[in-house]
Amino acid sequence: MEIATPRLVGARNDKTRGAPISSGQLQNLEASGKMKAMVLKKLSSVEERPLELVDLPEPVPGQGQIQVRVSACGVCHTELDEIEGRASPSRFPMILGHEIVGRVEDLGPGASKFKKSDRVGIAWINWACGKCSFCLKGEENLCGTAKWTGKDAHGGYAQYTVVSEDFAYPIPEKFTDVKAAPLLCAGVIGYRALRLSGMEDGRVLGLYGFGASAHIVIQVAKYKYPDSKVFVFTRPRQKEHQDLARKLGANWIGATGDTPPEKLNCAIDFTPVGEPVREALRNLQKGGRVVINAIRKMTPIPELDYTEHLWYEKEVKSVANVTRRDAQEFLPLAAEIPIVPETQEFKLEEANEALILLKQGRIRGGGVLKMTE
Ligand SMILES: [Zn+2]
Ligand SMILES: [Zn+2]
Repeated sequence: MEIATPRLVGARNDKTRGAPISSGQLQNLEASGKMKAMVLKKLSSVEERPLELVDLPEPVPGQGQIQVRVSACGVCHTELDEIEGRASPSRFPMILGHEIVGRVEDLGPGASKFKKSDRVGIAWINWACGKCSFCLKGEENLCGTAKWTGKDAHGGYAQYTVVSEDFAYPIPEKFTDVKAAPLLCAGVIGYRALRLSGMEDGRVLGLYGFGASAHIVIQVAKYKYPDSKVFVFTRPRQKEHQDLARKLGANWIGATGDTPPEKLNCAIDFTPVGEPVREALRNLQKGGRVVINAIRKMTPIPELDYTEHLWYEKEVKSVANVTRRDAQEFLPLAAEIPIVPETQEFKLEEANEALILLKQGRIRGGGVLKMTE
């Protein structure tokens, strides 16, 4: 089976069609059938503003693929991990971004699920083999040869992208392009984390970190488990995030390190650092579970004391990636609730600034790059 990895290929009448673009070529492209993209050429710290605005040929959809004209792309913590090397892209230059909303512009050979101008979303899972033991069990998020959008295949920090039609989802009408973007990772993976936490109505849920994902999860939790309590832990004095948590119905708000009024049955850690995992375990009720919703941690999880943090059948579980099923279940649910995503808009060329603010914890809700015509 051909691996449907989108590659940047030449414009339709370009002789370079099919050839990957080298960094040298990036500077030399003429402007016709071209698109703007913010590309990462090497690992760097985010503070060095490593993404560069370049003109590239529009990508051409291959067998079973669709070409999508991107209108909005969310900015996710995983991009920080990609840029800084904790989860490196598999090659360079790479176009990051995996919370993509846009319209189908062109259909590759054999693509039939969507029509031109249909609105679609693309998430982190870009392709999976469909044949390995994980895929066959519906655990394509664990597939060893899966491709991830913006890491192994070009993503949405660009005016166009291509993807297999099997890995694109209709976007409910309820949402604007910008509001839909954070649903595609922050929302979908948050939904998966909530599912894996074992949460049930009447229980106490703790959320560590209150950014793009947690502010969506609290809305899902309040809808699905109306008689539950949700406790939110933020960085100390993070007033903006605490205000948002209050507005969205948090029953108690404190700082990581605080002891909440009741033990937590379930906790989800959304933070990029290690300490909150231990804190969540300390505050966990007997038989409770902590789910870690992060692809990488910037600091280690501190040493655990067996009696204090693990005894009484406490569990820790990580969330790895997402499946198509997560997106297919979550997007209609998000419209039904309806989720109200808090978003902060940036232009494509402001991606570096958005990422710096994200690293500093200064984006309220989800950051979204909005493409201009
Ligand atoms: Zn597989
Ligand atoms: Zn993400």
